[in-house]
Amino acid sequence: MSEHSSNNAQKDEQKNDFIRNIIRDDVNAQKYPQIVTRFPPEPNGYLHLGHVKSICLNFGVAKEFGGVCNLRFDDTNPTAEKQDYIDNIKNDVKWLGFEWAGEAHHASGYFDQLYAWAVQLIEQGDAYVDLQSPEQIKENRGSFNEAGTPSPHRDASVEENLNLFNDMKEGKFAEGKAVLRAKIDMASPNMNMRDPVIYRVMHQEHHQTGDKWCIYPMYDFAHPLSDALEGITHSLCTLEFEDHRPFYDWAVEKIGFDVPPHQYEFSRLNVDYTMTSKRKLKQLVDENIVSGWDDPRMPTIAGMRRRGYTPEGLRDFCERVGVTKVDSVVDFRLLEFSIRQSLETTTARGMAVLKPLKVTITNFAEAVSSWESQKADSVNARFDEASQTLWLTQPNHPNVDMGEREIPFTETLYIDQGDYEIEPPAGYKRLSPEKPEIRLRNTYVLAVTEHTLDESGNVVELKATIDPATLGNNPEGRKVKGVIHWVSASQGVLATVRMYEQLFSVEDPSSVADVHQALNADSLTELNAVVEPSLANSDAGTRFQFEREGYFIADSEEHTSDKPVFNQIVSLRDSYKPA
Ligand code: ATP
Ligand code: MG
Repeated sequence: MSEHSSNNAQKDEQKNDFIRNIIRDDVNAQKYPQIVTRFPPEPNGYLHLGHVKSICLNFGVAKEFGGVCNLRFDDTNPTAEKQDYIDNIKNDVKWLGFEWAGEAHHASGYFDQLYAWAVQLIEQGDAYVDLQSPEQIKENRGSFNEAGTPSPHRDASVEENLNLFNDMKEGKFAEGKAVLRAKIDMASPNMNMRDPVIYRVMHQEHHQTGDKWCIYPMYDFAHPLSDALEGITHSLCTLEFEDHRPFYDWAVEKIGFDVPPHQYEFSRLNVDYTMTSKRKLKQLVDENIVSGWDDPRMPTIAGMRRRGYTPEGLRDFCERVGVTKVDSVVDFRLLEFSIRQSLETTTARGMAVLKPLKVTITNFAEAVSSWESQKADSVNARFDEASQTLWLTQPNHPNVDMGEREIPFTETLYIDQGDYEIEPPAGYKRLSPEKPEIRLRNTYVLAVTEHTLDESGNVVELKATIDPATLGNNPEGRKVKGVIHWVSASQGVLATVRMYEQLFSVEDPSSVADVHQALNADSLTELNAVVEPSLANSDAGTRFQFEREGYFIADSEEHTSDKPVFNQIVSLRDSYKPA
């Protein structure tokens, strides 16, 4: 068994969270013919990292227990919802690697049935139309210490209520003039049970049902009954719905189902320096603080995809976070750890110089003229006279078979500015006037002979020589420490490389009232870099490890071979270790 699959087996054994334990018991007791879960996003924005947890849980448990998971759009509030959001949510779920059962569902697809059930509640004496103003309703709900005051309309006859509800449906009420309320208990210690509103008037077109309805069910009413209608067995949601469960059970019981669904609550995913609220993320988009929902700094699935995060890495992250009932904040470096791990054996390597410093090899022609007789057997190369280029063939990955590429080595190169220091700090292992020699990755040992400074004392250019005997061989009579990457100046391609930091500068951006105060001004830096031709020639969306620099992706929107654009996915390493 490979290390990879044994790791997975180990992870599977560890999936003993309380939700899976409940489902496992239900499966063993043969309580249901099949496990059915659902992922119920409201199409009022793009999905974010928090939703990834819910998706992995709902689709994950269904798969593990031989069941199915539905995708259902909880589209009971037409004001904030759009078809574009629906399309993107579907795309995001698929990209994460999950498949929903059959067609996607819509709560709006059940509006006829939900209306009929509301009528049933009225007929049973379990619901009434309230004509109090929204302010009165609020005031009469009472408080934690004080029972609510029953509405004067609470005891109207069934017939009267049926007529009023029909009038609501026929558009005879303006918004806020009438609502349908469940008739439960105005003194309940649970405020959600004090006759909650279940239908409201909204003279608003709906993206799915057009102008058919001017009354819309409330989420709390539509949700349990949509679950029941779809035969959901385990309705998994976040902890803030715990107080809504009594109403969930009430609705399901009053309508009467043979196999009622049950709601189970788990803790939300919170990640430090990250915002998981569609509403607040929308503000960033609307105010052009980011370039869009798919800005690579956004914690949306679209943003993380464009950033280069992998579905495997995101799923691994969710497994590591686990499922509990305890609210906690996860270190964002755990996410980066999972992403990094998923890239290690799946991305080709390449050389990119992010902050270029020009180097001219003064003995290039002379040294390269003897390359064939001096090279080590391990070196595979060809020399092109016309362009004076030594093309070095190298594998794309040191230990995974990902094919090979040719890297051009020429008289002028770029190395990174950080790899040459006039006054190096202690322990510096790269180039300096005192330590002028270093190995250029995949090719010769180079020795700097001269540096040129600009007026401010910055190094702007180097002259150097190469040792002709070191192509694939160790230098003679001395040890040369350190290896640096480089790119040919004449054959390399100028590229835009976007480096990222966290979008927010505060640990809990949601706690800052004005989001502008929580932003990290350095979240995006664009660099004018140089990349080897194989990187420029890649397809948009291809991920690489830039040697010594980190993982990068050719931007899905803007990258072309002539004008390459790369986004930094994640750094190569971090001292952070998951617990
Ligand atoms: P938002 O506040 O961002 O709009 P939401 O909960 O209102 O989030 P929905 O579209 O209603 O968004 O959520 C769909 C599902 O995703 C729900 O079951 C919800 O509980 C779950 N979910 C949303 N945010 C998180 C989170 N941070 N962690 C885990 N699950 C989440
Ligand atoms: Mg919501």
